[in-house]
Amino acid sequence: MKTAFITGITGQDGAYIAQLLLQKGYRVIGLVRRSSTQDINDTRLKWLGISNDVELVDGDLADPSSLIRLLQKEQPDEIYNLGAQSFVGSSWHQPMLTAQITAMGVLNMLEAVRLVCPTARFYQASSSEMFGLIREPMQKETTPFYPRSPYAVAKLYGHWITINYRESFGLHASSGILFNHESPLRGREFVTRKVTDSVARIKLGLSNELKLGNLDATRDWGHARDYVRAMWMMLQQDEPDDYVVATGRTVSIRDMVNVAFAHVGLNPDDYVKIDPALFRPAEVDVLLGDASRAQEKLGWTPTVTLEEMIREMVDADLARLASAAA
Ligand code: NDP
Ligand code: GDP
Repeated sequence: MKTAFITGITGQDGAYIAQLLLQKGYRVIGLVRRSSTQDINDTRLKWLGISNDVELVDGDLADPSSLIRLLQKEQPDEIYNLGAQSFVGSSWHQPMLTAQITAMGVLNMLEAVRLVCPTARFYQASSSEMFGLIREPMQKETTPFYPRSPYAVAKLYGHWITINYRESFGLHASSGILFNHESPLRGREFVTRKVTDSVARIKLGLSNELKLGNLDATRDWGHARDYVRAMWMMLQQDEPDDYVVATGRTVSIRDMVNVAFAHVGLNPDDYVKIDPALFRPAEVDVLLGDASRAQEKLGWTPTVTLEEMIREMVDADLARLASAAA
C-alpha cells in the first residue's frame, strides 16, 4: 500500500485528491495546522464522506521541524504540496504571511524531502496567476511569467525552487501550473463560489443583492475533480516535469454570472451591484491555458464544462442552504 502525504488537505484540492487517492488504495496522511476551531477544519472531508478514512497530523508549513518530524514518521511515497495562503485578494493585505507560507513553505517542504525521503515523489501546486500580465495569448509551460500580486510572486518562487531542487538534487519534483479550478468545495471568497452561494441565497429569499468587482476579467475555469486527477498523473510518470492544466477556453466573470442566474430563472441585472472596493490594485485581465503537454504526455483532458460546473455549484449551495434552514 502506498502512502501519500498531503499539505492543504482541509482545502478544496486537498479534499478531492484525498478522495482520489483513497479510491486508488493509498494510505492518506494530511497535514493540519493547529486551530481553536479544529472541529470545523474537516468540513470538506466530511462533505465528501472521507473524514474517517484519512489520518490528520499536526504541523505547519512555516515550521520546518514539524515537516521533518512528520516525514520521518510517515515515510510517504508521494507528497502533494497544496497548502498555501491561496487567495489573491488577501495577498495584498497579508503579503508577508503569503510569502512565508506560499513561497517559503515550499522550500521548507523541499528541504524536508531532501533530508528525510529524497526518493519520494513531490507535487507542487503552482498557478496560472504566475502568467499575470500575459506575454502570449495562450499560456503554456514555456510562456514567460509576469506575476501581478504578492500571491503570484510567492507562487513563482515556489515554482522555481521546485525546478531547482529537481535539477540540483535529482528529486522527482513536478510543478503543476493549474488554471482556476472550482467546485462546490471552493472557498466562498473566490468569485465563482461567491456567485453561486449568492444566487442560491437570492433564490431562497435570504438576500437581494450581489456585490462584485471587475466583471470584464476572463478566466480559464475547470473542475477541481478533473484537476486533481492531473496532479496524480504527474507523479506516476517515470520523469518529473512541469505541466499546464487548463481547459483552453476563457470566459468573462460577467458570462459566468449569467450562467448562474439563468440556472435559477433570475435576471442578474436585478441583483448585481458593482462595488469599486472589490477591484484589485493590479488585475489579471485574461488567462487562457494550452494544456497540450498534459494531454500528450499524461493523457489528461478535462471532462466538465464551465456551465455544468456552475450549475452543480448552484445546486449544491441551494441544497446546503435548504438543509441549514431545516
Ligand atoms: P484552499 O485555499 O482551499 O486550501 C488551502 C489549504 O492550505 C488549506 O488546507 C489550508 O489550511 C492550508 N494552509 C494554509 N496555510 C497553511 C500553513 N501555514 N500550514 C499548513 N497548511 C496551510 O486552496 P485550493 O485547494 O483551492 O488550492 C490548493 C493549492 O493549489 C493552493 O496552493 C493554491 O494556491 C493552488 N492553486 C489553486 C488554484 C485553484 O484555482 N483552486 C489554481 C492554481 C493553484 P486551513 O484549512 O487551516 O486554512
Ligand atoms: P483568482 O483568479 O485566483 O484571483 O480567482 P478569484 O475567483 O478570486 O478572481 C477571479 C477574477 O474575478 C479576478 O479577476 C477578480 O478581480 C474578479 N472578481 C470580480 N469580482 C470579484 C469578487 O467579488 N470577488 C473575487 N474574489 N473576485 C472578483
